[in-house]
Amino acid sequence: MMKTILPGQTIGIIGGGQLGRMMALAAKEAGFKIAVLDPAMDSPAGQIANVQLIAPYNDIEALEELAAVSDVITYEFENIDVEGLKRLCEISYVPQGSDLIRITQNRVAEKEELTKAGVSVAKYIVAESYAGLLEKSSSLDYPFIVKTARGGYDGKGQQTITSQAELKLAEPLFENGVCVAEQFVDFTKEISVIIQRNGYGETAILPIGENIHKNHILHETIVPARVDAVTIAEATEAAEAIAEHLEMVGTLAVEMFVLKDGSVMVNELAPRPHNSGHYSIEGTNSSQFHQHVRAICGWPLRKPELWSDTVMVNVLGQHVAPLTSKIAQYPNWSIHLYGKEEAKHNRKMGHVTILTKNLESALNEIDASGIWTEKLEEN
Ligand code: AMP
Repeated sequence: MMKTILPGQTIGIIGGGQLGRMMALAAKEAGFKIAVLDPAMDSPAGQIANVQLIAPYNDIEALEELAAVSDVITYEFENIDVEGLKRLCEISYVPQGSDLIRITQNRVAEKEELTKAGVSVAKYIVAESYAGLLEKSSSLDYPFIVKTARGGYDGKGQQTITSQAELKLAEPLFENGVCVAEQFVDFTKEISVIIQRNGYGETAILPIGENIHKNHILHETIVPARVDAVTIAEATEAAEAIAEHLEMVGTLAVEMFVLKDGSVMVNELAPRPHNSGHYSIEGTNSSQFHQHVRAICGWPLRKPELWSDTVMVNVLGQHVAPLTSKIAQYPNWSIHLYGKEEAKHNRKMGHVTILTKNLESALNEIDASGIWTEKLEEN
């Protein structure tokens, strides 16, 4: 049963990171109250919550407390405990359910569902053990990438294998359980499609962005993606097919590879607002966070429109000091910092969004600022 959740009521968020923070800020604009569950005191989202619950994400008592203070519950990251989420579904209102989390937590389940949805994924095999990899990988060509089925992010838990001699590099990955090995895709661009859906089956897709990674971490998102109209159409159709197949509610980010012939292949899913959608706060009429709140509160979705070409650039720990020292030089930059205390190397601390009439000059301005100068590290 879908409910309509209204301003004055409380949205509970599992996870207190930057995604929860931006979700909470959007919800607060409309007068919702926010409760956040996170193990850390004053997490990015906790800082602006009405109620902070400080406990591990799988602490049953804390989840029950979250249920007691919330009219609707959502989450801001995928590595939460499925059993805890199932329990919450029984005792509180969780319109997103637990299936989307169960599937996207595990690359094997995710690839199976993507295949069922009829979208294209890289050729892959599933290996339960290193011995299994040795046996099955002969069906793949080199290079291929071995990825742990669970728990990897930003390129962690992955190993590229370029020859038989390198196979042993993948052995340590099996300490974390089952792995998949997938064919290396010779892509021309990476794009992400953020699709949002409410419980009435209404969907909205944000303008599609092009992602530039540095050292496996998202560096820039450029919107609109500089790809052909047929690629946009195919990517949109694939995202719609996945959202319908999963009957998901909330937000789903679909990361895709664009191939030389302009077709797309799905890399992976994130069942939540995504770093590549941060541009939508200033760049569109309906940020991914506002739309997420609409979707889980049973409101009609807004049709997203892009105000102008937009670039988002991530601010990692090493960029904070140079950025803050140069803020005065860039009045057109929208600065977002997430309230994290320690500016550790490669930690996502914030982002900058630039709306522009000329993408090239905005990209040049970012480079010329000297803030994002790090060299590419070895894989
Ligand atoms: P993932 O954690 O699966 O998103 O992978 C992180 C990054 O590794 C992707 O954004 C790609 O740049 C690269 N990558 C992952 N899988 C493949 C693949 N099958 N072929 C080529 N590059 C890949």
